[in-house]
Amino acid sequence: MPATERLPSYLDANHLGPWGTYLQQVDRVIPYLGSLGRWAETLKRPKRALIVDVPIELDNGEIAHFEGYRVQHNTSRGPGKGGVRFHQDVTLSEVMALAGWMSIKNAAINVPFGGAKGGIRVDPRGMSRGELERMTRRYTSEIGIIIGPTKDIPAPDVNTNAQTMAWMMDTYSMNEGSTATGVVTGKPIALGGSLGRTESTGRGVFVTACEAAARQGVDLQGARVSIQGFGNVGGTAARLFHEAGARVVAVQDHTGTIHAPGGMDVHELLKHIQSTEGVAGFRGAEAISNSDFWGVETEFLIPAALESQITAANAGDIKARIVVEGANGPTTPAADDILAERGILVVPDVVANAGGVTVSYFEWVQDFSSFFWSEDEINQRLERIMKDAFAAVWQVAGDHKVSMRTAAYIVACTRILQAREVRGLYP
Ligand code: GLU
Repeated sequence: MPATERLPSYLDANHLGPWGTYLQQVDRVIPYLGSLGRWAETLKRPKRALIVDVPIELDNGEIAHFEGYRVQHNTSRGPGKGGVRFHQDVTLSEVMALAGWMSIKNAAINVPFGGAKGGIRVDPRGMSRGELERMTRRYTSEIGIIIGPTKDIPAPDVNTNAQTMAWMMDTYSMNEGSTATGVVTGKPIALGGSLGRTESTGRGVFVTACEAAARQGVDLQGARVSIQGFGNVGGTAARLFHEAGARVVAVQDHTGTIHAPGGMDVHELLKHIQSTEGVAGFRGAEAISNSDFWGVETEFLIPAALESQITAANAGDIKARIVVEGANGPTTPAADDILAERGILVVPDVVANAGGVTVSYFEWVQDFSSFFWSEDEINQRLERIMKDAFAAVWQVAGDHKVSMRTAAYIVACTRILQAREVRGLYP
């Protein structure tokens, strides 16, 4: 590195949490990129990161300030694309990692987007609807200078939903002076949302799990499934597994862990969750400790909560045949190595949970053309894209004798850096 060029602080992979995980994953792929490796540093630096102050008046008259972020990691292949999460542990470095994973995901499944992500460092539980609306609108207004239907398109993520997107769309449109449906995806149907979008991430998890099962000789009938996180992704995946004849034997969320070796009635569990805070207290299963969750014997383990859940500390306990990553970044690189050594197949996040952004892409296309598709058509197209992406990554993994994660990064980074190279450096 030339003396005048100083290493940015965010390039130290060993001390950076999720961003460190992302950097290590990129490092693993560089040897496979050939001459494109010359451009690899691009992947290690977010193109643009914005930190915003989000002040709102609370219902009790106090003024509260929250920190908000929007990171555009890469836009070589198209506009930034990625969700917005509301969570008390959100940090700039976490949002950087999540934005990087979106770049990889969008390229791995070949939708014409770059990668971006946003977040607010806030615990939204217990906030009133009015407070949430004011916070969402002020955040949108602050990041309004860098988002837009052809620039960067937010979507739901942890603790955000179709209502959040409606407020974002309205705020952006009011500031622009014209209705811009394509500025966010995951909107309500009444506002140009797409059929099938809410379920799409969980559906994609299920589709890729089936692809993995077919190749590993695992029969779905009676197969055991453990799920961490029972929100939109985990809940939908659980229902689809249950309806396909698999047995959901363990579920963990922020309220605790439940276990039923014979399988639980997922429809009943979903009803229970609607009327309570989470899985705790469900009568169709037994409570076990959170740490015992990892040792439950299953065919499928689906981490569908937050990052860095499968680590060197628990990867040795896992008794699953296949891990399907519904969450973003749930497995650290050290844990990846342990799982690989133990012969456990990991279907990586950038393929497994790409169903959400795939239907976001459909929504964006439908908004631009103002022509809306049927749910069947959407689900069929989603399945096709997920199956093709899985097959392409599986093939590369076999050819290079690498994990599916490294294979997905080979496919994705090649696409991103090819675009980078032909565009050339400006000026
Ligand atoms: N938040 C989802 C993800 O992590 C979806 C992003 C999108 O649809 O833009 O993939």
